[in-house]
Amino acid sequence: NNTPPKPHVAFLPSPGNGHITPLFELALRLVTQHNFQVTFLVITTGATLAQHNYFNAFKPLPDNLHLLNLPPADMSAFHLDHMTAVARLSVVVRESIRPLPTILSEINLKALVVDIFCTDAFDTCKHLNIPVYSFFTASAALMALSLYLPTMDNEIEGEFVDLPEPVTVPGCNPIRTQDLLDQIRNRNIDEYKWYLFHVNRLPMSAGILLNIWDDLEPVTLKALKHEKFFLNIPTPPVYPIGPLTKEIEPVLDDHDKEIMTWLDDQPKDSVLFVVLGSGGTVSSEQLTELAWGLELSQQRFVLVVRKPSDSPDASFFNAGSDPDDPRVYLPDGFVERTNGVGLTVCSWAPQVAVLNHQSTGAFMSHCGWNSTLESIKHGVPMIGWPLYAEQRMNASMLSEEVGVAVKVAVVGDGGETVVVGRDEVAKVVRMVMEGEEGKRIRKRARELEVSGKEALSCGGSSYESLARVIELWKSES
Ligand code: UDP
Repeated sequence: NNTPPKPHVAFLPSPGNGHITPLFELALRLVTQHNFQVTFLVITTGATLAQHNYFNAFKPLPDNLHLLNLPPADMSAFHLDHMTAVARLSVVVRESIRPLPTILSEINLKALVVDIFCTDAFDTCKHLNIPVYSFFTASAALMALSLYLPTMDNEIEGEFVDLPEPVTVPGCNPIRTQDLLDQIRNRNIDEYKWYLFHVNRLPMSAGILLNIWDDLEPVTLKALKHEKFFLNIPTPPVYPIGPLTKEIEPVLDDHDKEIMTWLDDQPKDSVLFVVLGSGGTVSSEQLTELAWGLELSQQRFVLVVRKPSDSPDASFFNAGSDPDDPRVYLPDGFVERTNGVGLTVCSWAPQVAVLNHQSTGAFMSHCGWNSTLESIKHGVPMIGWPLYAEQRMNASMLSEEVGVAVKVAVVGDGGETVVVGRDEVAKVVRMVMEGEEGKRIRKRARELEVSGKEALSCGGSSYESLARVIELWKSES
């Protein structure tokens, strides 16, 4: 048999659906459209229920795509529950990839693709002479800021959030200090040190894959591709290859089917879908105001409720596992009073299926990057309710630059989270569901839906970008 072996690439995402989904979508494309073989490494330590369900959707997996579960690491020396998200992800990855040198040395790899929290893998790959590509699963604006962070760290004294002016990464749009991501809001905590550790290593990548397309963030992309400044460090080539999002939902369970059946009975574009990411939570007081606001707006809605918490990413490490009755957390009689107009469900909804449904008219979202892309890909305008990580930056960008969202004022002047009252919630919901502003952002979302499709189709900008990477991988010796 003279058939040459298929080029083999491995993927290593950190735990969490937001990281796994885009890397897995790329893996699927390589196997089904480009004749690659892929080993997809799965970190099982700290895996969420949502993560398990996600992989269940792909049974049987295509030939040549091999899921390889890394054995659970012993984390008994760490107090995971007391750690912030990035610190926790980083130590889980570091401990889980201890078997990586053995695993990778046994396969003849063209490249390893990692996300931003897996940069520990650079050391193993350097030793084994395997090129590592970073797949950045957030915006280009965050990528640019991240590449610039080591410079800021050297040149700026004090806290970035106390700077008198917005932060301007050369060539990019300014970022208000209130919108800076959580990880860099306090330079003394572990979270900052871990983030700096990872972004410092980004230049070690052979290339950076971005889950955007040319029309979404043109200014930043131009800077990343052309600005020489960047950043007195050798910046790897960037490849915009998006929007890569979940194409199919895991098999719908009875609870999911109930949502879809309910949507079938609603008029076109009439329903507001409310879910704040895979792990987002709001405080008890805020949940009460949100629920009242929805009720007062008199608009149709699907509301996904989680146990309230003062920590905005409280459900991130147990996403989709909250079995409680949502009524416990909601105003008395809310579910009954809104019955027929709204549907309240617990913990998790099949987001892509809901966004794809013709009754869905808008999406109230925490503006995580995958949710953002999924919304735009289905031409659904957004109400931005940022909670954690870089979501404030995303919400501002989506409302002020991209023009597909209206932002809820959850951030105070000093950068603190404020409780948004019911009247304000009702006003924003009506504005988007019924008002002129809603029409404007829906039109823009539909334009971008088309441009995203074009970018991915044969000859489109993202298609061509990925083709360049594929050529490189095929030619690696
Ligand atoms: N998701 C879902 N159902 C839910 C909540 C989230 O299917 O009820 C999925 C959503 O479709 C998206 C991912 O979880 O693919 C969330 O990723 P994102 O980057 O938006 O936010 P993160 O959860 O990482 O903060």
